[in-house]
Amino acid sequence: MKVYLDTIGCRLNQAEIEQIARQFRLAGHEIVPSASEADLAVVNTCTVTSEAAADSRAAIRRANRLGVEQIIATGCWATLEPDKTAELPGVTRVVPNPEKDSLAADLLGLPGEFFDLEPLARQPLPGLRTRTRAFIKVQDGCNNACTFCITTLARGDSRSRPVEAVLADVKSALDGGTQEIVLTGVHLGAWGQDFTPSQRLADLVSALLARTAPPRLRLSSLEPWDLDAEFFGLWSNPHLCRHLHLPLQSGSAAVLRRMARKTSPEAFAALVRRARAAIPGVAITTDIITGFPGETEAEFAETLDFVKALEFAGGHVFTYSARPGTPAARMKGHIRGDIAKARSARLRAALAESGAAYRRLFIGQTLPVLWESTSQLSDSGWKVEGLTDNYLRVRATATEPRWNRLEAVKLINLDGNGLVGELIT
Ligand code: SF4
Repeated sequence: MKVYLDTIGCRLNQAEIEQIARQFRLAGHEIVPSASEADLAVVNTCTVTSEAAADSRAAIRRANRLGVEQIIATGCWATLEPDKTAELPGVTRVVPNPEKDSLAADLLGLPGEFFDLEPLARQPLPGLRTRTRAFIKVQDGCNNACTFCITTLARGDSRSRPVEAVLADVKSALDGGTQEIVLTGVHLGAWGQDFTPSQRLADLVSALLARTAPPRLRLSSLEPWDLDAEFFGLWSNPHLCRHLHLPLQSGSAAVLRRMARKTSPEAFAALVRRARAAIPGVAITTDIITGFPGETEAEFAETLDFVKALEFAGGHVFTYSARPGTPAARMKGHIRGDIAKARSARLRAALAESGAAYRRLFIGQTLPVLWESTSQLSDSGWKVEGLTDNYLRVRATATEPRWNRLEAVKLINLDGNGLVGELIT
């Protein structure tokens, strides 16, 4: 069977669709780059914002328009809106998140352990979703209740994957030539808390670094309240990427309370100071929501000042999107869209400025870059682009294509499109 796979949203969705690809391949099926070639499609949906939910519906309709009559819809939007999902053209099966891990086994009538019988080296998904980095799912669900968050509703309680299962996926990725492993989850920092006796994410990272040899290991988003003092000791290992993505969401203590976030501006700032002291050159990036219900001009100004003071290396700004079923959606004082968007623009400008300042710090330095994309410029010239461990996007020219290679690059300039590097040969 020819299978087309598509995913919208977070790294966890990406990790899951790669796992589904691996299972279909193990069962002898082919993963194709376009729905126009496929007998079956699996679409991993998202509902973190209303836009993401709309993109998910569009992906399903597109697969059907390209000729697929057998579409399996899974993921967060499909989990929370199963009836609406089943009404979309071509959808023959809706698989809620808790059943996603056995989606391929159930469809193919195979026992779940069939896929554990033989290791299969990771192969990047063909087509648009080709990635050098392997996203590895280590945890799912969340026991927190941030009032804006629909993910915790769509993904259920926090649950961790055992060390051995994660190790097997990491080995499969490294066997497939992956240079960078990215650990991901809904609430990554909660890994191990549901075990008896409980464990910490630091235990998993130490085990991975001790028992496998990833050229690079990166951690995806971490909630600020999960990181204890010892956590930063892990960075004595040079294979751990100097990048921490810590969602702030708001720099106003009052807004953080209305969001039910387990942190405060003071605690967050102290954490960032500790991280910078422990990990020289670390990139701290973040997520912020503007226009949260009731957000006053004064509260927004607190957030803007706080963000400027913390000098983030970058981040994402989301304009608040009311998600059905969340406590925040029922709150009073929803902000007019134009006001919220204007606040988002001011925050993005502040993050762009501090991001450029962070990048300028590295001009003149030589850092390893993992090439992720390569395109021909001329008969003898190629444009290559990739990321350093501290999440600097670098482009350079080369005499031959380069993909999925870690190479030393001298950072020579910063222009409007980012950092320019020179290959050290
Ligand atoms: S920590 Fe908060 S924002 Fe993150 S998944 Fe859990 S409830 Fe959602």
